[in-house]
Amino acid sequence: MALDPSALAQAADWLRAARRVVVFTGAGVSAESGIPTFRDAEGLWQRFPPERFATWRGLVRTALVAPGQLAEFLYEVLHPIAVAAPNAGHAAIARLEQFVDVTVVTQNIDALHQEEGSTTVLELHGSLFEVATRRGRVLRRLDRAALTAMADRLRRASRRRFALLRTLWTVRKLAGVGLRGIYRPNLVLFGDALCEPAWTHAHTACKQCDCCIQVGCSQAVLPAALLPWEAQSAGAKLIAVDPAASVADVWLQGTAAEVMPALVQAAFGATGNAQH
Ligand code: NAD
Repeated sequence: MALDPSALAQAADWLRAARRVVVFTGAGVSAESGIPTFRDAEGLWQRFPPERFATWRGLVRTALVAPGQLAEFLYEVLHPIAVAAPNAGHAAIARLEQFVDVTVVTQNIDALHQEEGSTTVLELHGSLFEVATRRGRVLRRLDRAALTAMADRLRRASRRRFALLRTLWTVRKLAGVGLRGIYRPNLVLFGDALCEPAWTHAHTACKQCDCCIQVGCSQAVLPAALLPWEAQSAGAKLIAVDPAASVADVWLQGTAAEVMPALVQAAFGATGNAQH
């Protein structure tokens, strides 16, 4: 369906008038980079039930009773993120910084906003590229090449004998037991508290912004999904960019890679002349 021109014009007016903008992103902003969302009809949770794959306890239990499935799940999560590149939606969000003060608040763990050049990115659910202690102290960062190599070996591990041992050996740079105890990817799973100080900074940014653009979020992942409404209750205009119907002051129906470049262009033109 074509983007509604009057909705686009209204959103562009609010964006042009804003001094501080929060761009709040979910899995949908990276869908056109080849990273599937979890919750859609074909999403990961349909094949890998959250109770077995979305908590640390569930993952340990799955490792013991069905190690091949664990390797398969890890491959499905790791591989698309490892090989992804930013899309036109990430690029338009990074370009917004030429015109206005922007804080990106993301639920994603794929580091694509930073890769595209966004400078203030608050990762509420952590990052797949960081290895941390159980208390969240970051020990080291991995790069896409290391994750890609790991994912390739995981695919083979899921189909072979001794799948648990092969899986543990394959992911040893990302998760395991070391001198400082258990280390693992710095991720928020179901039931975990959101990352600090990102969560606190995100509240402050939402309370202070004039315009919040929510891109590719189902508004179902709590408590993160409350932030755009917090911004709205503090007086900001809320713009939603999503193919699926979203509650907002204005909903721009379409994908991130289609709508975000159109919105930035409608607000500021193509040339990049800053207005603030
Ligand atoms: P979600 O509940 O936020 O839903 C995804 C939303 O994206 C839906 O509203 C869908 O309509 C929309 N969408 C789909 N394709 C789109 C597109 N091309 N452009 C714009 N919007 C689009 O997210 P989820 O999939 O249930 O994921 C839950 C959590 O899992 C996320 O909050 C995140 O922490 C994590 N996750 C991260 C990634 C990533 O890092 N790329 C990917 C999947 C899931």
